[in-house]
Amino acid sequence: MERKALEQLLLEGPFSLHDLVKKTGETPEDLGNDLDHLIKTLRNEGNRKIEIEPAYCRKCDFRFSEDHFTKPTKCPSCNDSWIKEPRFRVVSTP
Ligand SMILES: [Zn+2]
Repeated sequence: MERKALEQLLLEGPFSLHDLVKKTGETPEDLGNDLDHLIKTLRNEGNRKIEIEPAYCRKCDFRFSEDHFTKPTKCPSCNDSWIKEPRFRVVSTP
């Protein structure tokens, strides 16, 4: 997917990877790569950034790290699989 198109889409976010798959028809693998690129590009450009709402466990509130783009299968803290997907959006930096 074109980087600018993804950036534009994420301005209307936050969206999870699953939401983006539905919206674009791309595979989660491709979108994961695209997101990775976009994060790096925006970091270099400096006037926008990707804000990541990390995945978390709905049962015990365990927070996963921000580098998980996809939903973890199980919570390492309570072993539950009731996990909220990470979500992404593009925001302007002041
Ligand atoms: Zn948990």
